[in-house]
Amino acid sequence: MDVSNSELFDSLDADSFYLEGADIADTKAPEVPIDRRWEERRFRARLVNPANRRRLNVIIVGSGLAGASAAATLGEAGYNIACFCYQDSPRRAHSIAAQGGINAAKNYRNDGDSVYRLFYDTVKGGDFRARESNVYRLAELSVQIIDQCVAQGVPFAREYGGLLDNRSFGGVQVSRTFYARGQTGQQLLLGAYQALERQIAAGTVEMHTRHEMLELIVVDGRARGVVIRDMVTGAIETHLADAVVLATGGYSNVFFLSTNAKGCNVTATWRAYRKGAYFANPCFTQIHPTCIPVSGDYQSKLTLMSESLRNDGRIWVPKSGEDKRDPRQIPEEDRDYYLERLYPSFGNLVPRDIASRAAKNVCDEGRGVGPGALGVYLDFADAIARLGRATVEAKYGNLFQMYAQITGEDPYETPMRIYPAVHYTMGGLWVDYDLQASIPGLYVTGEANFSDHGANRLGASALMQGLADGYFVLPNTINDYLADGPFPAVDASHPAVVEAVEVVRTRINKLLSVNGSRTVDSFHRELGRLMWDFCGMERSEEGLRKALTRIRELRKEFWSDVRVLGANEELNQALERAGRVADFLELGELMCIDALVRRESCGGHFRVESQTPDGEALRDDEEFSYVSAWEFGGDNGRPILHKERLVYEYVEMKQRSYK
Ligand SMILES: Cc1cc2nc3c(=O)[nH]c(=O)nc-3n(C[C@H](O)[C@H](O)[C@H](O)COP(=O)(O)OP(=O)(O)OC[C@H]3O[C@@H](n4cnc5c(N)ncnc54)[C@H](O)[C@@H]3O)c2cc1C
Repeated sequence: MDVSNSELFDSLDADSFYLEGADIADTKAPEVPIDRRWEERRFRARLVNPANRRRLNVIIVGSGLAGASAAATLGEAGYNIACFCYQDSPRRAHSIAAQGGINAAKNYRNDGDSVYRLFYDTVKGGDFRARESNVYRLAELSVQIIDQCVAQGVPFAREYGGLLDNRSFGGVQVSRTFYARGQTGQQLLLGAYQALERQIAAGTVEMHTRHEMLELIVVDGRARGVVIRDMVTGAIETHLADAVVLATGGYSNVFFLSTNAKGCNVTATWRAYRKGAYFANPCFTQIHPTCIPVSGDYQSKLTLMSESLRNDGRIWVPKSGEDKRDPRQIPEEDRDYYLERLYPSFGNLVPRDIASRAAKNVCDEGRGVGPGALGVYLDFADAIARLGRATVEAKYGNLFQMYAQITGEDPYETPMRIYPAVHYTMGGLWVDYDLQASIPGLYVTGEANFSDHGANRLGASALMQGLADGYFVLPNTINDYLADGPFPAVDASHPAVVEAVEVVRTRINKLLSVNGSRTVDSFHRELGRLMWDFCGMERSEEGLRKALTRIRELRKEFWSDVRVLGANEELNQALERAGRVADFLELGELMCIDALVRRESCGGHFRVESQTPDGEALRDDEEFSYVSAWEFGGDNGRPILHKERLVYEYVEMKQRSYK
């Protein structure tokens, strides 16, 4: 199992990290003009009559925005749903942390927005590494999401005339972001949670909190269930169904420090990968430019300052690295508003990948501010002078409060200090237009799939995607698969089920029996540092090879020296973390291989070997215009790369420019 596979790698030539398999393609998007594809797909998909839905069981792992919306909608439709999450309530899913807003092409501002423009901005923002069909559908559905949420009572901000208010996010020149102060995720999740609770009360959804999925059950090539650990008693349970949906969020915590909730992990999708589901674009991670800088070696969490702040905050550093004055004493002529200088059209609202790299560059030049000179200023003095403190407070009050509590500085008085941090993962399980993974009967929604964001997600588009997937896409595609059900009954004695349970038990026993000398966290911290240094904001051939060598050693050390106290039959957070870190150690390796193979810069993936003379990312469309979909090659084998070639019929591929 996991323990031993590095030996083989050690003996391989450096270029032989992977094997190349056959190309793959999405076969579900109908071949009609893009604005008719979704309608056509819904029409062609087979339906399940309401009376038959009661005989079909669907497992949904995850009850964040993507999972709760899917569970509520499929429950309402009449399917039998079993929903799982590891928190003590669906309301605690990481989605609750989302601050800034959700995009929709409503054009309330009359500023030239449209479905087509949202589609265009998203394809361009993702640096031409997303699938056109999916992105167009996402833009189309965006308008329905807002209507649905308003009907649920989500308290979006309104402007004086009563219409919903909008603000701008990076990478666009229109205002299309709907928001509820700095707590948009919380309000949207409460809406989805209400809908979910209604179905729980109606008996269509059975909710299992504090239950963690540790294995996928595949029978005769179809996803048929999951192995779950009851996190309170340690009981290992099997749950079987006609289809399985993973809505288990992203894997940014492979970096140890990230803006994600501490519990976010890759286990569910990684276990599915090991069972045959392809993992797409694992190296595409998003580094968010506006986070509170790291403050010390013992920190275990980073905090986001929402991108919405870039609407009114101006980003700058002193012109000279020698200038150590209090920022309020530094006059205009000695400041460098570098984003406004370098990218006059978009200014402080360039996309996240560009803003992050620019911050890194000025810090590398020695002009960073704050401890370790790893920070830049985000300054609201002009906005306060222009709009008044009360207006700024009404828009961003809770974010300012959070910043003051964490740093002890008052951002109304002195500029915030910010620095990029890992925030979101564009990579995830590969899915087709129906959101079905490469294992029939396995569907993946929200951040857990490789999604619609290509190599860089635009701000406020994750909430849009999670809710589009859960409220609208999945409920209209999964029926096409379930129309063949119910599938032959499977019970706990089936060899595939017995084997999956055995894998879980063996692994837990192994983790508890190593009894070594290092804590799980120390391994995680070291892995995170490697990922940040070598597979973070900037990647190079040399660095990635270095990381790969060390990650393999680290994995061996983990399985021979980790110390996990306690037992399985109790609440054991060390054991929970150990399993997750073991999976992160495997994922980290695949991320580095993916990054190594992609010898181009695109979006959040910046390869130093591939840049323009003025330091901008240089894509290589000839070679790399594809989604990399990785197939597990066995513990002693190499991962197999399948390419899904990307074709752009509606948006012309060109080098991005935000100048
Ligand atoms: C600080 C912050 C602010 C953000 N702000 C915005 C914003 O303003 N706008 C925007 O569009 N996006 C924002 N994002 C991104 C967005 O919040 C996420 O991408 C999105 O909420 C993910 O939703 P999800 O439903 O896919 O996953 P999650 O909300 O992470 O839910 C995952 C669910 O899966 C469950 N789960 C996971 N693994 C298992 C397992 N093995 N067994 C059982 N259950 C499991 C969890 O319990 C949970 O219920 C922000 C992200 C962060 C970190």
